[in-house]
Amino acid sequence: MRSWKAARPTNVLGAASWGSLALAALCSAVAAYQLGSQPAHFASASVVPLALEAERASEAIVPVPVETLPILVTASPEPVSYAPVKVRVYSEGQLRRGETLALALDRQDVAPQLVHEIATSLRPVFDFRYARAGDHYRLAQDELGRIAEFDYVRSEFERYALRREGEKLVAERYEPAVHVERARLAGVVTKSLYDAIQGLGESGDLAHDFAEIFAWDVDFSRSVHPGDEFHILYERRYLRSDEGRERYVGAGRILAARYASASAEHSAIYYELGEGRGGYYRPDGSAVERKFLQAPLTYRRISSTFSTGRLHPVLGRRRPHLGIDYAAPTGTQVWSVGDGRVVFRGWLGGLGKTVKIRHENGFESWYGHLSRYPSLALGQKVRQKQVIGYVGSTGLSTGPHLHFVLKKSGRHVNPSQLHAAPAAPIPRRQMQQFAAARDQLLQALEPRALRVVTNEAL
Ligand SMILES: [Zn+2]
Repeated sequence: MRSWKAARPTNVLGAASWGSLALAALCSAVAAYQLGSQPAHFASASVVPLALEAERASEAIVPVPVETLPILVTASPEPVSYAPVKVRVYSEGQLRRGETLALALDRQDVAPQLVHEIATSLRPVFDFRYARAGDHYRLAQDELGRIAEFDYVRSEFERYALRREGEKLVAERYEPAVHVERARLAGVVTKSLYDAIQGLGESGDLAHDFAEIFAWDVDFSRSVHPGDEFHILYERRYLRSDEGRERYVGAGRILAARYASASAEHSAIYYELGEGRGGYYRPDGSAVERKFLQAPLTYRRISSTFSTGRLHPVLGRRRPHLGIDYAAPTGTQVWSVGDGRVVFRGWLGGLGKTVKIRHENGFESWYGHLSRYPSLALGQKVRQKQVIGYVGSTGLSTGPHLHFVLKKSGRHVNPSQLHAAPAAPIPRRQMQQFAAARDQLLQALEPRALRVVTNEAL
């Protein structure tokens, strides 16, 4: 099986374990296939973990543009030679949880004015408000106590530096050479989508991205069943070492995806309408996204549905429940179901801590029993899926859950019966271009030729 030789070691799995894991992935994929109920149209070859061979195989089928990002240096003038700086002090460390660079350097007795100088000088390439726990820093001071060099490493893809050149500090940004290839991954769900994708050797991130694409159509915490089938065409990113060796460093963007269950089938293609204006579309050009999310959180179960008359658990009398109760642990993020503005944030009787968002077309969504909220100002704009609160049990509540209400023109509507208007489709004038891109991506997602090849391998 030529395909397995193409597999490269990943930094996640480590070179030594890769082979055995790949083998395990194959076994579990085959097992998964045999255990799962088999949709009639499903070719047996699709369960082979294609990603592991697709790096080579896909070249034969789709023209694969290989993008190599060069090392980029910004805000840096022509190199000039300066007298070497004598370094006196090094301060090195990692930002702890909740810590700013100022606090971290203060912990190492670095003067506040130096911290200020670092932040100001680096601002053209990096804003320290985006610093996060785990970021690594290294400061070198010269004999006069001035900054000689400062290095700030966020990941193997992101590094910033300050260099002293005479009286000036020069800010630089380094990006390593990343090599992107396309690959396919396909399989059958046995337990969950996450298990299936991880079983094929990919990360939970890819499973998460896949679930996000179809979040408007498929509720992956409830309606995923053994036997459901998934296909993913995505980018695999490789980092090139100085010796020219390449190492897999993780999945990039999903380019095309398909999810098929016994009851429904969903396909999506990534398409850019313009520079930086990419999104996922169905093959007919309609947007995958809708104006409202299926649910405002990741929940454990629906503890109470929308009804016009039920026995209230706390008040003990019959009362309509004009919303949906989602049971979830305290502190679970609650998202705005759509773009809108904050129109209320505070205590609202039995609903306890509540946030209300006003949307387009007379819609308003309410989120009750929250434990707390992020800083939200009245009138503030929020985007779809922005965190607007955290699950709690404030007000008349028997346990942590979210009480979610949707109103249209002041009247309660049943959120689960609402088929929210979809986001804008591909404009007609771009339809022809879209169709060409779509056909190429869908062909790459499930090429017939490859099924025959892998059939032989099985
Ligand atoms: Zn409720």
